[in-house]
Amino acid sequence: MKKRFQVSIRNKITLLFFTVAITMILLVGVVANYYIKSRFEAYTKDKMQTEASNYVEQISKTYDLESGIWNFQAIEGIGKNAMENGYLVHIRTLDGTSIWNARVYNKGFCSSMLMEMEQNMREEYPNFKGGYEELLYPLRSGNLEIGSMSVGYYGPYFLNDSDVKYIHALNELLIGEGILGIFLAFLVGISMSKSLGMPLTKMNEKTHEIMLGKYGAQISLKSDILEISQLTETINALSLTLDRQEELRKQLTSDIAHELRTPVATLKSHLELMQDGIWEPSSERLEVLSLETERLKALINDLAQIAELERSGLTMNMQAIDVYKMAEQVRIALEGDFLKKNVSLLLEGESCILIGDGNRLKQALLNVLTNGLKYTESGGKVKIEVKKAIDRAIITISDTGIGIPSEELPYIFERFYRVDKSRNRNSGGVGIGLAITRSIIQSHGGSIEAHSEFGNGSQFVIELPMASK
Ligand code: ADP
Repeated sequence: MKKRFQVSIRNKITLLFFTVAITMILLVGVVANYYIKSRFEAYTKDKMQTEASNYVEQISKTYDLESGIWNFQAIEGIGKNAMENGYLVHIRTLDGTSIWNARVYNKGFCSSMLMEMEQNMREEYPNFKGGYEELLYPLRSGNLEIGSMSVGYYGPYFLNDSDVKYIHALNELLIGEGILGIFLAFLVGISMSKSLGMPLTKMNEKTHEIMLGKYGAQISLKSDILEISQLTETINALSLTLDRQEELRKQLTSDIAHELRTPVATLKSHLELMQDGIWEPSSERLEVLSLETERLKALINDLAQIAELERSGLTMNMQAIDVYKMAEQVRIALEGDFLKKNVSLLLEGESCILIGDGNRLKQALLNVLTNGLKYTESGGKVKIEVKKAIDRAIITISDTGIGIPSEELPYIFERFYRVDKSRNRNSGGVGIGLAITRSIIQSHGGSIEAHSEFGNGSQFVIELPMASK
């Protein structure tokens, strides 16, 4: 298969942040620049109109209506001022006689000013198409027209030196912000990639170790990213589960060997003694041999059940069953065993119909009840309670037995798990009864939970969904 090009998550995130930052900055820069320039154009055009109207008004005021005389000194002052601001004014009387003309007053300054404007505009807008333009305004004193004034400038609009400085300052600000933004994005990208990449690298290393068989290896990692801490917890739990499964597997092999060795050894030695004629095959001795073969049979049955469970899960034969009646049948079947050990077995509750595999459910109940009997001292009590909830049947089996330590509770439903290995060896269980029970209950869509306090009895609560009406 062709190997895909791969980059580390750290590089990927840093690069991603960097790209996003640059794109955003460029985009903001272009938009801001365009917006500022277009606003500036409107503002400049507006400003030019207002300034031109101001000069017209100021010039009109230099005419004395009564004497009909222009104040030339004032006109020159206003004209010079206009010139310095980039406007070339030319004032004429009504008959067209020129009173004051900026170009006549200082031709050199006018041309250099227009050239400077052009240069300013070219620098700012390389594609700017401009040139000298002129507007003509009538001059009035009251309602009387007294002359005209043309205002020339570099059009359609121009930027004077302070305008250019202002635009440059804005641009510098944008560039500065851009550089700062890229720098920040770089820092954030690196820290993000660290907080994501580092834990992933660590997890990768640990899962590799686990894969190589170092079950139980734990990742010690604290992350404020929810998914990362969840993944860490899951991997840690998975590693512990694998470790436990491995332990159980090894335990089972040694258990089976041990369980088989004892009865087989007994059978062999007894048979040899009888063959050699040292022992009489009396009925007591044959009874011992029969008991040992029973033990072997029970163990083989247990193993067969595990095999079936692992191979195909459970094949179900569904029918309507009354859980209470079923519990009653199981109670009757076990009555003798309970009586023998002097443990009382009680049944309370009500009829509860559901669809299920009767034999399987009986077996599930039997497993829990035989445990109750196994782990309850003589004189104790085991109680079955069948209750009906809205949509499910609740079967509670409680005993007054030895109880289960709380740290063991989470594992008792696992295959081959036994709380106290030596304690159970005598009772013959290999730790699969509850695993089979849970599997049966779950295949009915139900659940089983255990509550217990060490030394104070145990309680198993089975919930099974009921048949719809
Ligand atoms: P086993 O065949 O060893 O009884 P199970 O799967 O039935 O295996 O049970 C698992 C373990 O849970 C048992 O080894 C036992 O230690 C514990 N256990 C189950 N039921 C009870 C109970 N009612 N009281 C005390 N311990 C129990």
